[in-house]
Parts: sequence; C-alpha cells; structure tokens
Amino acid sequence: MRAVTFQGPRHVSVEDRPAPEPHARDDAIVAIEASGICGSDLHIYHGRVSVEPGFTIGHEFVGTVLAAGEDVSRVSVGDRVLGCYHTACGTCFFCLRGAYHKCDHARTFGHGAALGSLPGTQADQALVPSANLTLRRVPAGMPSDVALFAGDVMGTGYHAVQESGVRPGDSVAVLGLGPVGLCAVQVALAAGAAPVIAVDEVPARLEMARSFGAIPVHLSEESPRATVKAHTEGRGVDVAIEAVGHPDALELAIRLTRKAGTVNAVGVYAERCEVHMGLVWIKALTLRTGHANVIGHVDRVLGMLATGVLDPRPLVTHHLPLEDAGEAYAIYDRREALKIVLTP
Ligand SMILES: [Zn+2]
Ligand SMILES: [Zn+2]
Repeated sequence: MRAVTFQGPRHVSVEDRPAPEPHARDDAIVAIEASGICGSDLHIYHGRVSVEPGFTIGHEFVGTVLAAGEDVSRVSVGDRVLGCYHTACGTCFFCLRGAYHKCDHARTFGHGAALGSLPGTQADQALVPSANLTLRRVPAGMPSDVALFAGDVMGTGYHAVQESGVRPGDSVAVLGLGPVGLCAVQVALAAGAAPVIAVDEVPARLEMARSFGAIPVHLSEESPRATVKAHTEGRGVDVAIEAVGHPDALELAIRLTRKAGTVNAVGVYAERCEVHMGLVWIKALTLRTGHANVIGHVDRVLGMLATGVLDPRPLVTHHLPLEDAGEAYAIYDRREALKIVLTP
C-alpha cells in the first residue's frame, strides 16, 4: 500500500509500505477514504515536532473497516467510520476520569516514536488500536469532508469552548483563524456566545468568520483591543481562545480578557514561552492549556455535525490525490489552503 512519509524538513514522500495487520484483539484495520492535512502535520513538516524519517504521517481519517479483532464490538467489518487522532486505553487513572487525551497508554497517529510509534493515516490503510474508543460510525449520508473534522479539528474547537466554560451570552475572542480557530468560532456561536470576535491577518479567513456570524478584526490594520472594548463596555471578553500557539498571541489573549475571565491556549506549544504572570495574576485569569480531549467530545460533536449546527465544509479548500502529498504540503506551507483532504 502507499503511505505519505516524513523524510526531513519540508520533504515528504509517497512510499510503498506493507499493509497493516491486526495484532491486539481490539485492533481494527481501516481502508482510508479520505485523510486531512492538519496544522500539526505542518509542525512535523517544519521539523518543529520531531518524527523519524520514513515514518508515515497523518491523523485525520474517514474510511471503511476492513478487519477487526474479536474484542472490537462497537464497529464491524464494512462499517464506514471516522477516527479520533489518538487512541486511549479506557482503563487507566486518566481514562477513568474521562481525560482520554492524557491516557497513560495513548498513542497518536502519525507522530513517530515520541507519541507511541503508531503509523499515520495518510495512506491506503491504517492500523487502529483500541478501536472501540478510537472509531465511530459515520452518521448515514455524512460526507467525508464533514466527518473528517469530528476526530480532530472540530473536536479541538469544541474542547476550547467547552473547557473555557462558555455560557450563552458570554463574549468570546478567538485569536488565529486557521481551521481550529474557525471551528472554535462555530462552536462558540452554537454555544450561544455573543459576541464572538475573530482576529487574524488573512482577509479570506476573516471573511469566513464573518460569514459564520463573528465580528472580524484584522490584527494589524485594526485594533483588537479597541474592538473588544467597544463590544464589552470596556471590560474585555469573558473568554479568549488562543488558536495560534505563539507567545504574541498568548500575550494578546491575556490583554483582551476581562478580570476573572478565562484564556484557553489551544494552539500548539512545544517550547518555553514567557507569560506576563503579573498580568494574569492581577486580573485573576484562569489559564487553560493542552490539546483536545476529542474522544471525550466526539459523540456530541458528531451530533452537532449531523444536524448541521456545525458545518466545516467551507474550510475544505483543496482535494488532492494521496500521490500528490508533496505538492499538498507545499501548498499548505504557503498558507494557500485551510484544509487539504487527501484521497487514496
Ligand atoms: Zn490535527
Ligand atoms: Zn487510558
């Protein structure tokens, strides 16, 4: 079978790999129908997140179950399924408390030895461990361009909003309108947040946030602080979601948030970062961090996708064959795409 492999900074290849086989009783094999390229794949592509050369990458997928071990009970051979971006055991200290994203035995697809040596899903087929937790049936009639989002990007937008304790009528600022930020805008609006203020520098992304119902603010041509003040009687927003993963964005999120509000850093951090703790402390802010507990959210997210309350289809800007992965990554790296879907 063919698989997209990381070779070195800014270099991926499409290579032949042996087809995966189930080992454990709760393993499944999925024939991939569509696999997304994610912002975190770009961190690998840049070498910021290290993965061994030759390792298969990718972690967003929709496909059909080809084989399933005898303990796989929640999906069957022939089912159309979507996957979460990581696995969880279901029985460790953290899983028993519902924190599947912190499972002691979690493995993340396509992230090399550091995250469990689980080959990625930008391939013809993928091995899926802990299939009862990792896979869900795709609701009837749901296109892959929608289902792909449930197990990662929309789940992350959902996590950012839910973990911040957003209630109807809360004001929310979303910083960074990549796919996660745009999904967070949709979830915040669906949760009844008002207003939702969306900050970025790319006009097309601002326009998309506006079309979803947010108030767009250009980071450098306008003043996010002035806009936030104007819409919150000068207080600042109840919740700021930092969907960039950069110290400057975190600093702005801290400044835009009202006293006793919440800042959620859902963007990826892999290195030391200075936080103005004096500001966090004097404002009595709650700072939330970390990647998303998608296994904990996926069923609710699927419900909202199936009913059209959430609709990520405008985010899918490109469909490319798996063979063209090299070109796809280059396009994504040039920020010419929001979500690229690869099809084997
Ligand atoms: Zn991802
Ligand atoms: Zn666990």
